[in-house]
Amino acid sequence: MKTIRLREGKERSLLRLHPWIFDSAIARGGADAGETVRVESSSGQFLAWAAFSPSSRIRARAWSFTEAQRIDAAFLSALIGRAIRTRACFDIQSDGLRLVHGESDGLPGLIVDRYADTLVAQFTSCGVERWKDVIADALLRETGLSRLYERSDASVRGLEGLPEATGWLRGGPAGDAPAPPTELTIREHDWRLTLDITTGHKTGFYLDQRDSRQRFAVHTRHRKFQHVLNCFCYTGGFTVAALAGGAAHVTSIDSSGPALERARANVALNGFDTARTTFLDADVNASLRGFIEAGKTFDAIILDPPKFAPTAAHADRAARAYKDINRLALKLLVPGGELFTYSCSGGISADLFHKIVASAGIDAGVEGCISERLQGAPDHPMTIHFPEGEYLKGLVVVKKPEGTGLLNEIGTIPA
Ligand code: SAH
Repeated sequence: MKTIRLREGKERSLLRLHPWIFDSAIARGGADAGETVRVESSSGQFLAWAAFSPSSRIRARAWSFTEAQRIDAAFLSALIGRAIRTRACFDIQSDGLRLVHGESDGLPGLIVDRYADTLVAQFTSCGVERWKDVIADALLRETGLSRLYERSDASVRGLEGLPEATGWLRGGPAGDAPAPPTELTIREHDWRLTLDITTGHKTGFYLDQRDSRQRFAVHTRHRKFQHVLNCFCYTGGFTVAALAGGAAHVTSIDSSGPALERARANVALNGFDTARTTFLDADVNASLRGFIEAGKTFDAIILDPPKFAPTAAHADRAARAYKDINRLALKLLVPGGELFTYSCSGGISADLFHKIVASAGIDAGVEGCISERLQGAPDHPMTIHFPEGEYLKGLVVVKKPEGTGLLNEIGTIPA
């Protein structure tokens, strides 16, 4: 068994059960890609068993902090089984759900999503890459499913020195049998949504916003929003939610043509009249400015942009970009209107995001009240030891109605 010895004082994060070991923390030792190493402090004290990543700044990721634990197929299969069984404790109103959420499920670098009867996995660390076959078999055994597609095309694989890998890992075309479908339909809440696991973002869909989409439908129904603007709409999840909530018209913007095409198809699939929708293939910032110039207003606006700040190093520039779109959106709302605004940037904390939205309000000359805080759906768990798992945060901001107290016209939105 190979050992890596840390520099003095660098054991602290492992003692707090944080799974990452940076290259700068290591005094000596090394191993092959994905190989299990014993990690010890500068004085030789056992700290963790970890998977080694020879070319990544995150040089090793902990599998276990228990010295007696063997890192083998049985250990990994048990972790996968536990992650899958944990999902049964949540009230997930969908057959599209995340079964394994990386570090938060004790499996650093592994994402597994289930879309109806198909599994899609992403391997983004040398550790899970090395154990891919064991993981694939465990996933089929624990779910009882037979199809597993790999979407290991995330850019972070490059940081691990791993090439992109996509295709069927299990249950792919065999002999003369036709290839299994890659365009799938999931049932989420009261609606159905299609996605493509080969070309869609991430593993095909933004499962983390499931509960927010439902929340938006509830607000739309309760507050009787008529004109909704869905910015960064992707395949139209929030658009369908708004229509299901009774919105008269939804304007949806995205810069991806294929995503918009699917969004349109998702509206039709749910039986809504496409005359209630406008889809714009455009830049959100430019569109918001254009709406202000044209004197348009909306009753509710969703801002769910892509990750502007992947790490804290990008936070400054990202903060300006977030502030700008939030300022424009707050201006476009009618008094009493609601902004559902999100950041999925790991580099922007919930506290910083709140400050950004607050200064957007100041610059827009708008008073607002935060009526709800939102986060990723529960199948994207966060652990207390791994704050990086808390990437998605959202705020519902109510624009102050003229001549009234901040919220006395609105009251409480039902659960
Ligand atoms: N709300 C969506 C997910 C949004 S993901 C859902 O519930 O499924 C972010 C989207 O922003 C992507 O679809 C991407 O194509 C789009 N996007 C990125 N930059 C953009 C820009 N400048 N203007 C418009 N859309 C953009």
